[in-house]
Amino acid sequence: MATYKSDKCSFCGRSEKDVPLLLTGINGYICSDCAMQAYRIVQDTLGGKPSASSGDYVLNDIPKPKQIKEYLDQYVIGQDDAKRYLSVSVYNHYKRLGQEKGDDGVEIEKSNVIMVGSTGTGKTLLARTIANLLKVPFTIVDATVFTEAGYVGEDVESILSRLLQVANYDVKAAERGIVFIDEIDKIARKSDNPSITRDVSGEGVQQSLLKLLEGAKVNVPPKGGRKHPDQDYIEVDTRNILFICGGAFDGIEKKIAQRLNTHVVGYNSVQNLKKIDSKDLMKYIVPQDLKSFGLIPEIIGRLPVLTYLNPLDRTALRNILTEPKNSLVKQQVKLFQMDGIKLTFEPEALEFMVDKAVEYKLGARGLRSIMEAVMIDAQYDAPSGKTKKFVVTEDYARKQIEKSNRLIA
Ligand code: ADP
Repeated sequence: MATYKSDKCSFCGRSEKDVPLLLTGINGYICSDCAMQAYRIVQDTLGGKPSASSGDYVLNDIPKPKQIKEYLDQYVIGQDDAKRYLSVSVYNHYKRLGQEKGDDGVEIEKSNVIMVGSTGTGKTLLARTIANLLKVPFTIVDATVFTEAGYVGEDVESILSRLLQVANYDVKAAERGIVFIDEIDKIARKSDNPSITRDVSGEGVQQSLLKLLEGAKVNVPPKGGRKHPDQDYIEVDTRNILFICGGAFDGIEKKIAQRLNTHVVGYNSVQNLKKIDSKDLMKYIVPQDLKSFGLIPEIIGRLPVLTYLNPLDRTALRNILTEPKNSLVKQQVKLFQMDGIKLTFEPEALEFMVDKAVEYKLGARGLRSIMEAVMIDAQYDAPSGKTKKFVVTEDYARKQIEKSNRLIA
């Protein structure tokens, strides 16, 4: 900010030479003393209440759960249950941030989320899309890189280093961010019974995650990695950070089935058994099943919102190709459009790609590499060619896939 020698503070009238610093505005000036005084008046008057301009959240600015779900619908196909749970818990989370400390003694607790669903069903996509909507810092970390202090690997605090980095070291922004912890199932204890020999990447890591999930003031090494004594730390309070955990929990259906079987034995058992949809056991998941899988009860307690994602069937995969706002097909069309080429896909070509994705059993993740394999030659040749139209037929897609060595296992 520039200062002008002959100008006067518009508030106290003193000239530049009589004040420590004179700041210029559009039609006037303010000296540093008056600015300080103005700051104190603002503090006293507003009493530190959240205001939208200070980067805090005002509940009116936060979309309602229905709006959050509608937004998610634009990017994520299906997974209605997960979308509803996420929308509500995110909304409650921000309600919690805005809560005034009243006399009623009611304090809204943190609503960290855990999503269970096989790989490539949209867990990361859901978390990322929510963060985009809310414009808060967002980071994805993989639980498998963490080990107990003293072992080779990363400390759990490095989760916060990454959040700080994406927030450009704006600690206040980071403290309201969202962290997606992927592969949380990989730090499960190997068995339900606590064992005498500790497993390096299991229970110990879960223990160290506890305090982050719950809310604590944590000293974070700004650049991540392991802590060492002569490093500077930044203090980050995790109380208002929303943690969303995801994991495939392979084989958890068995635990669900076991539990359901034991429960239905006896009184009313025949009726209950009939009601159970044995093809889709995931929808019956309860926290107890996570415990049977090897998560410690304390962690489960800090992830109170439990939801699941369905495996993607053919129809869902077909929709994922074309429906989302930035679907794979729309992205390709845009890439070609930038070269002035009109790209179209015949429906049979899309069906063929879906067949391949089903065959490779990689969920929606497979679609991306299939699309790349189909389009690579066209993307290479078309920009230097003369034609302004390119049609992807089933025949073309098939030939491209056959040519691609990488995809043919
Ligand atoms: P997960 O975290 O469950 O392993 P991701 O969210 O990383 O899976 O999904 C991988 C990719 O597959 C995403 O980038 C996205 O393009 C696509 N995808 C997965 N599930 C869906 C879905 N339900 N709707 C739209 N795209 C999806």
